[in-house]
Amino acid sequence: MAGLTFGAHGLTYRYPKAPNDALRDVSLQIGEGELVGLVGPNGSGKTTLLRLFLGLLRPISGRAVADGRATSEWSRREFAQRVGVVAQREEPAFPLRVRQAVTFGRYPHLGQIGRLSPYDREVVDRAMHQCDVTALRDRWVGTLSGGEWQRVRIARALAQEPGALVLDEPTASLDIRHEMEVLELVSDLVRERGMSGIIVTHHINLAARFVDRLVLMHRGAMRAAGSPRAVITPELIEEVFEWPVDVHPWRSAPQFIPLRTQERNTQG
Ligand code: ADP
Ligand code: MG
Repeated sequence: MAGLTFGAHGLTYRYPKAPNDALRDVSLQIGEGELVGLVGPNGSGKTTLLRLFLGLLRPISGRAVADGRATSEWSRREFAQRVGVVAQREEPAFPLRVRQAVTFGRYPHLGQIGRLSPYDREVVDRAMHQCDVTALRDRWVGTLSGGEWQRVRIARALAQEPGALVLDEPTASLDIRHEMEVLELVSDLVRERGMSGIIVTHHINLAARFVDRLVLMHRGAMRAAGSPRAVITPELIEEVFEWPVDVHPWRSAPQFIPLRTQERNTQG
């Protein structure tokens, strides 16, 4: 499955009746085999940018394109064949078993009759295995812990065999092992299968070690974008998150440590 390229050209958006733009003039390209980390404080416009990318909102100005075509022009089915999405919030809606929930990821690919082929079943099993939910296959989704449900949702997105992954805080409720496994998996998929990926996360230090580029949002605008080294600087992090930090080089990516009040004026 070939990767999908995403582009945002001068995207501006304001929610109905809102006093300010949620997003202002944001441009961003994501190519095949590229993983981008989208970071920034609460309310800085990350989810809004993803919704525009996905064609769920229509920009006031600018264009969001996927494979060169405006995302708002794609049919939902067509889009679901190419883009796997894990939205920020989703409660288990129907009484479904885990395996059925993951199988939903195949639906955009099924014909009129909706019958699963052996290949479809194989893809579902592989996705469940990759997200470590095979042992949960017969559980009702309503009985899962937050982290388990999150992994099921990621498995469902992988079952789509998408060309791109759009993930909004996918590891927010995961423990360390499962968070690392998700990040390793996503970065492997992007690099080995040439998928494109965009991942929103507050775990910036971790993301810095997996992504090609970080995009730092601030009050609806893109404040900085580039390599983790270019974005994780004391000046930028302190300005955007309004909290002092120390930045330390660590192997492949810089890591920052938020400072306690009493640590601010002493040299580390
Ligand atoms: P983030 O994902 O970075 O936390 P969002 O993109 O969700 O930020 O929100 C950006 C801004 O848009 C915030 O000020 C938020 O309150 C506002 N916003 C988000 N969703 C809506 C909505 N449905 N209606 C009105 N305002 C919204
Ligand atoms: Mg959000």
